[in-house]
Amino acid sequence: MSKKIEVETAEAFGRTFVKGNIPEIHPVRCMGCRHCVNLCKKLGPNVLDIVDGVAKPVHPENCIGDGACMVACPTKAIFLMSKYDPSSPPAAV
Ligand code: SF4
Repeated sequence: MSKKIEVETAEAFGRTFVKGNIPEIHPVRCMGCRHCVNLCKKLGPNVLDIVDGVAKPVHPENCIGDGACMVACPTKAIFLMSKYDPSSPPAAV
């Protein structure tokens, strides 16, 4: 039996992304290099910024879940996308 799930999507780079997840950033592995911040800003969503020396999703509502930040990170500090719950935003927001 199949289950129908309604999702919010975003169109970018000629593709359709499912919204609702944001990057989970490991605070010990992050060295604050800004690679993820700069790439996300350059691509458009502008989700991340450096807060207290580490990357944080300061605009989680903008995240399209493309995972570009994950591949930009040289230390693999971003290795999961987790569900974004507006009623319980990340600490940096
Ligand atoms: S690319 Fe990785 S190490 Fe650099 S700021 Fe982003 S999460 Fe931190």
